[in-house]
Amino acid sequence: MTSKTYRATLIEGDGIGPEITDSTVRILEKLGAPFIWEKCAGGLGAIESNGVPLPEATLESISRTGLALKGPLTTPVGKGFKSVNVTLRQRFGLYANLRPTRTIIPGERFDHIDLVVVRENIEGLYAANEYYLPLGDDPRAIACGGGFNSREECARIIRFACDYAVANGRKKVTLVHKANILKIFSGLFLETGRDIAQEYDGKITIDERIVDACAMQLVTDPWQFDVIVTTNLFGDILSDLTAGLVGGLGMAPGANIGEKAAIFEAVHGSAPDIAGKNVANPLALLMAGGLMLAHVGRHDLKQRLDDAITRVVTTGGVRTRDLGGTSNTSEITTALLDAL
Ligand code: NAD
Repeated sequence: MTSKTYRATLIEGDGIGPEITDSTVRILEKLGAPFIWEKCAGGLGAIESNGVPLPEATLESISRTGLALKGPLTTPVGKGFKSVNVTLRQRFGLYANLRPTRTIIPGERFDHIDLVVVRENIEGLYAANEYYLPLGDDPRAIACGGGFNSREECARIIRFACDYAVANGRKKVTLVHKANILKIFSGLFLETGRDIAQEYDGKITIDERIVDACAMQLVTDPWQFDVIVTTNLFGDILSDLTAGLVGGLGMAPGANIGEKAAIFEAVHGSAPDIAGKNVANPLALLMAGGLMLAHVGRHDLKQRLDDAITRVVTTGGVRTRDLGGTSNTSEITTALLDAL
């Protein structure tokens, strides 16, 4: 057992962010997590306090700590400032987005789910090179958008997924693409994956699936999948789908991992419809805290946390409304603190 501590940036986030971050930090502290928090501003709250959604002090903190836990941030739809999440991923080169999905509450429609989506995080259509073309009197008659996938980044994310599979005792990695239609844009990802597959011969199986078929099969037979690796937008959509298999977005943690920094967060957004009502499910962000513990090598603490979560929502029957229960954020937090 090590007593090493780690400075970590903490961004509360918008909407339900402050409620679930407070819950998560209290539970991690009770667990004895080795993090010394540097609380920083980000998102809509930062516009009010600092005039910008991503203040320099926040960027400086993440550069220095290389480790952050982040509540969800609101991004204006169709207008306004660029997503802070996307900016953070690009700025810190957080090329891999790891999204594990595991059944915690048994007996639901999809039992025994245990799969991982690895999403490329800085290229693809998220490059969002968007513009309008005029036609006649209409200056915004045609909306154009483009992205790019580089061979280097495709190779890096596919190797990340394969190395993760090998290190975590997983058996299969599925390359998810749309190379039948986007023969260049998605084709390069598939071609790169097929080349890399040879490096893992005898260690794991690598197969491939077209994204639309994959979406259907994730609903009809999700158990056939183990690790899925895919490009940015497909990974965004499929990982929300896989969250739905295990009780919804409140149960889906995510890790954004780069060479020099890693940012841990819930897959869900700021849920403005339930913000400030003390009903949000804090488990996704808490499980992201668990991924953060594993990232710094504290698998022992992650295991204790996972066990406590399982006990509280199964035998303890303490569940928030999104999981079909009646408990609020404070009640599930107290139950977890007691369980630890
Ligand atoms: P959302 O994930 O915030 O909410 C979708 C639905 O799920 C809502 O009904 C919400 O109440 C519910 N929900 C989400 N998290 C929950 C939780 N922990 N407990 C209980 N219910 C929960 O998605 P949205 O409404 O499309 O987006 C809202 C904002 O969040 C947008 O500005 C979007 O850009 C942003 N967003 C941020 C992130 C992030 O910071 N990583 C991710 C996704 C969306």
